[in-house]
Amino acid sequence: MFAINHAAAALVLKRRYPTVRMVFILLAVQAVELLWVALNLVGVETTTTDPIVRSVQNIHLVHMPWSHSIGTTVVFAFVAWGLIRFGIGKPKTAMAVALGFASHLLLDLATHGADIAIAPGLGTQKLGAGFYGSLPVAAFLIELAFGIICWRIYRGSVGLLLAIIAFNVVNLSMFLPQWVGIEAKLAGQTTTLTLVIFAQIVVTLAVVGWLSRSREGTCYDTGRGSTVSTAGLRDSTMSS
Ligand SMILES: [Zn+2]
Repeated sequence: MFAINHAAAALVLKRRYPTVRMVFILLAVQAVELLWVALNLVGVETTTTDPIVRSVQNIHLVHMPWSHSIGTTVVFAFVAWGLIRFGIGKPKTAMAVALGFASHLLLDLATHGADIAIAPGLGTQKLGAGFYGSLPVAAFLIELAFGIICWRIYRGSVGLLLAIIAFNVVNLSMFLPQWVGIEAKLAGQTTTLTLVIFAQIVVTLAVVGWLSRSREGTCYDTGRGSTVSTAGLRDSTMSS
């Protein structure tokens, strides 16, 4: 799934866990991708492209068993949950972060080609629904609809909705081979490609975080099931 819609998934978790700071949720939903960026830049994971890149179908995530596998995601989510739950005593933050980790891989499994391993060392069978390759228009509409549904669940501002739609529309050329966009300049340029994706991650997290402030409560998870409000205001949805 593209960066804007991973970021949008944070809205659902923020709605469910309103006392958890949005920055932690945003980092959690893209932690897998940030790890992917780092591992690609140091050469541990590998991405290749076809000689001509017309869409995401021509970009191949050939080796990413550490950042994107079911096994490592389960381990990362469980370890993060344990460290936050028992290390700093914030159970809601722990759950929101663990679910954020898991959301990333689930959304990638629902859209990617078969490029997600079960676990490192088990790379022969890879998983992915394959919508990018088989049904690119449907894949675009699924991603756009997902982003809008996240916004609706969150009940965000009009500005947030417009940003989600705009970032999805900007990605349209990545779905449609006949629509030439920036991806055409990325053939064989895998380091640049990685950095472009990193920039997308940072920008979309920042924009979603910024535009979601109007619903972000002023209450924070203090652990032991209690919350505090720094401004004396409680979010009307703050019941968990
Ligand atoms: Zn990913």
